[in-house]
Amino acid sequence: MSIHPHRKFAVIGDPVDHSLSPQLHKNVFDQLGIDAEYTKLKCPESDLSAMMERFRSGEWDGLNITIPHKQKIIPLLDKLNPRAHSIGSVNCVTNDNGALIGYNTDWFGFSMSLKLNQISVQGQSCVVIGAGGAANAIVYALLREGANSIAVSNRSHTNSEKLVEKLSVIQNDCLLHSIPFEQLNVAMNSASIIVNTTPVGMGSNPDEIPAPKTAITSSQILIDIIYSPMKTEFLKFGERIGAKIINGLDMFIYQGLASLDIWMKDRISPRVDINDLKKILETHL
Ligand code: NAP
Repeated sequence: MSIHPHRKFAVIGDPVDHSLSPQLHKNVFDQLGIDAEYTKLKCPESDLSAMMERFRSGEWDGLNITIPHKQKIIPLLDKLNPRAHSIGSVNCVTNDNGALIGYNTDWFGFSMSLKLNQISVQGQSCVVIGAGGAANAIVYALLREGANSIAVSNRSHTNSEKLVEKLSVIQNDCLLHSIPFEQLNVAMNSASIIVNTTPVGMGSNPDEIPAPKTAITSSQILIDIIYSPMKTEFLKFGERIGAKIINGLDMFIYQGLASLDIWMKDRISPRVDINDLKKILETHL
């Protein structure tokens, strides 16, 4: 347990305005009677190191890390949980008596979202668009869930190549490969599950779409891990043509609850009324 009777948590990122983490955690604290607060802090990359020193000195009881720092944070930490090490990305940090330890709960959030939406990836061909922190966690989850093939496509090809190299060490029968952005439509033609992990469609450019519309078909499952807006243009287009669509809200909720379990060193998440939490979050979207 934390030494603070009143606990303090925060999410750091840049941009961070879109984050609903404060609302998520406030609702959980209210539901379970936990004396705590959760804030969002804009943190440009140049402030990341100073922020970690403030954390080390005890300013917060736990931090979430969001776009674009999930990989850049790693060299500033003292230790990684083995799963975060395999994934190569961190979205949750604890301070264990001055030692900063990185965890990844995004993979769990994504797996829960598949389960709740009755999606089996076993034997399926998947395309992951993007190769940042969230993409690493999602590819890890897809490998664990038994995907037959995963094609990763990113605007900077070297980053998708790095992701594939890193995660290829997880031995299973999946064909994990990186494809140039210009060939995304070809990979999508033979895929049944397409996951957008880029911020395209969020923020100031809500009409943008991360994939060519001509490669989207009604038989595909489209997953966008963005949850604000609830329906990006990618999902709206998919819905219009009859594809199954999933947004990032379930993933977001479960990565947040898993972070709280880690910080509190207790499985408090099973006591949370998820329907109530979801209703509250939807009023903010
Ligand atoms: P990140 O580490 O900064 O990675 C961003 C990725 O998107 C990179 O591969 C980047 O390509 C690509 N990208 C950025 N802008 C692009 C553009 N205009 N066109 C094409 N590709 C672009 O960020 P992240 O932490 O992975 O987060 C990515 C998104 O997922 C954010 O919208 C975040 O809010 C969302 N997210 C949601 C959840 C959830 O729980 N639902 C969890 C995590 C993240 P380069 O390699 O070329 O830079």
